[in-house]
Amino acid sequence: MLSVGEIELKLRNKQHHLEALAEKLSESLKENHVDSGTAEKEAYSQQELQQVKHAILRIKQGAYSDCELCHGAIEATRLLALPYTALCCACASES
Ligand SMILES: [Zn+2]
Repeated sequence: MLSVGEIELKLRNKQHHLEALAEKLSESLKENHVDSGTAEKEAYSQQELQQVKHAILRIKQGAYSDCELCHGAIEATRLLALPYTALCCACASES
């Protein structure tokens, strides 16, 4: 059974974690304490952060389990595995 409240809590924890991570990475970019992967990691954590924020917004709108492309239901198993996805299995495999 999919518990949206539980998922929201997980997403919020992830959001905090990613915000801290993104901040740390952009600090080290500023200070030039950079290994080759840091810029890439920073971009990735920013992107992931956007997805997490978007998912929390979708929960608030009551549209969390609606696919953004076909407007069908996103599979519960998929949401559990990938809590900030906005696409159902079929649409995700097409894009
Ligand atoms: Zn879809």
